[in-house]
Amino acid sequence: MLARAPPQSRQTSDRMRESGLRLANFIDGDYRAPLSGAWLAVHEPATGQVYAEVPDSGSADIEAAVAAAQRAQRGWSATAPSARAALLRRIADLLEGQLDAFAEEESRDSGKPVHVARAVDIPRAVANFRFFAAMAESFTSESHHGEAGTLNYTLRQPIGSVGCISPWNLPLYLFSWKIAPALAAGNCVIAKPSEVTPVSAWLLGGILQQACLPPGVLNIVHGSGARCGAPLVAHPKIKAVSFTGSTATGAAIAAATASQFKKLSLEMGGKNATVVFADCDFERALAESVRATFSNQGQICLCGSRVLVERSLLPRFREAFVERVRALRVGDPRDPGSDIGALVSAAHRDKVESYIALAHEEGGRLLTGGGRVAPEGRCAQGWFLQPTVFDHLDAHCRVNQEEIFGPVATLTPFDDEAQALAYANSTNYGLACSLWTRDLERAHRFAAALESGIVWVNCWMARDLRTPFGGVKHSGLGREGGQEAMRFFTEARNVAIRVN
Ligand code: NAD
Repeated sequence: MLARAPPQSRQTSDRMRESGLRLANFIDGDYRAPLSGAWLAVHEPATGQVYAEVPDSGSADIEAAVAAAQRAQRGWSATAPSARAALLRRIADLLEGQLDAFAEEESRDSGKPVHVARAVDIPRAVANFRFFAAMAESFTSESHHGEAGTLNYTLRQPIGSVGCISPWNLPLYLFSWKIAPALAAGNCVIAKPSEVTPVSAWLLGGILQQACLPPGVLNIVHGSGARCGAPLVAHPKIKAVSFTGSTATGAAIAAATASQFKKLSLEMGGKNATVVFADCDFERALAESVRATFSNQGQICLCGSRVLVERSLLPRFREAFVERVRALRVGDPRDPGSDIGALVSAAHRDKVESYIALAHEEGGRLLTGGGRVAPEGRCAQGWFLQPTVFDHLDAHCRVNQEEIFGPVATLTPFDDEAQALAYANSTNYGLACSLWTRDLERAHRFAAALESGIVWVNCWMARDLRTPFGGVKHSGLGREGGQEAMRFFTEARNVAIRVN
């Protein structure tokens, strides 16, 4: 098999699949086979079959990408913000023009239903490029005057070459969420998508070529964390790293870069609580807490896997919650009727199953689910699990403290606000919390006391891209989104001028 540029049409794409699909790195404006000469298998989660190969790139590929970025840097940082914005908008328009094809590829690669990729993942990637195009044009810096006889203004300059590393759960959505602000701020980028779901990032290279993004401005290098991600973050010319993934990898990146004092933005794991008070809007709280738990097979860092319910409401809530969960349809991601697709890998399915076993060991009562699903036909060997709900588990047991990242929820009663808060704050994580109450004072009080970077009151995953996004404790370091991302991807330099 030869390493390839992406196909320009669906027919070509189908022919390529028949003969085997070998992806390539995108370096200096062109597709290139990895210098490492090594490849990794890419699976279709819905069938469990290998359908492509992705470069298993190493240090030499990273070196080539960094060299290309360094050559492009001067020109790109000198490009007017409006011209950078125009390029990002062109990328967004081209991507939008291929929305259906990208959605199908994203679904095939990750196991999520096609309709989810079409409604959420790819539109959001388009929005990321458009949003940061606008940020490129509107980004401002501060000036201070009057003190010490000076006028001060702050330059916010591009950092240089930066690394962007993303996970498999929302492949193009999170990939674009990082590279768009990095480019908008005038940096050149070496991006490493997850080796588990590389296809949409590979396809994006074709769009970058059509948009005429100058060579070297965005380089996409595929490979594993150890062989490709590690040399990227350690490279002395990479001045900043924006990472989304597990807390363990975030810690490894922080340790590996500490002695070089790189700028780091780390978006890591979560163990989020959905807190339901008895005075909530019952129907909305119910519908949204089911969505918050099982969207994307429970594989979103923001999913609320710990559902804490005020004791007086619990019997009614539990019955309705379990009924809704039982009604979720697990099946072929291509089927518009599937609510839940396949988990991303056999290894991840096994990990989630190990937590189901642990929930039994820890004394949990299984309310629904708990097993595998083998849909008929082409998906019989796919990695499907039933949406699963337990109760009777202690708030401090491992199942309620460790990130599972799959379709598994627990229901836990609380007696009052203080206990709800203590439970919500009891884990090492602190990414997001969804709070359901009609008591406005309580909502403010609770939101301020939560150890969480993001609080949603009477909603879940309502995202305004201008707001700071990120976690506290073991969930994150720094914030993404809006001005925060533009600040992260620029270096501030204050200039003081004596005026009297
Ligand atoms: P992961 O940490 O295994 O991998 C993430 C990325 O890091 C991949 O591209 C991987 O190849 C790379 N990587 C691995 N080891 C590396 C190393 N030593 N140096 C450099 N790069 C390395 O995470 P995952 O399994 O792909 O994703 C799931 C995790 O991501 C979950 O913990 C989830 O909560 C988290 N996540 C967090 C957010 C957020 O915004 N906080 C969003 C999505 C996912």
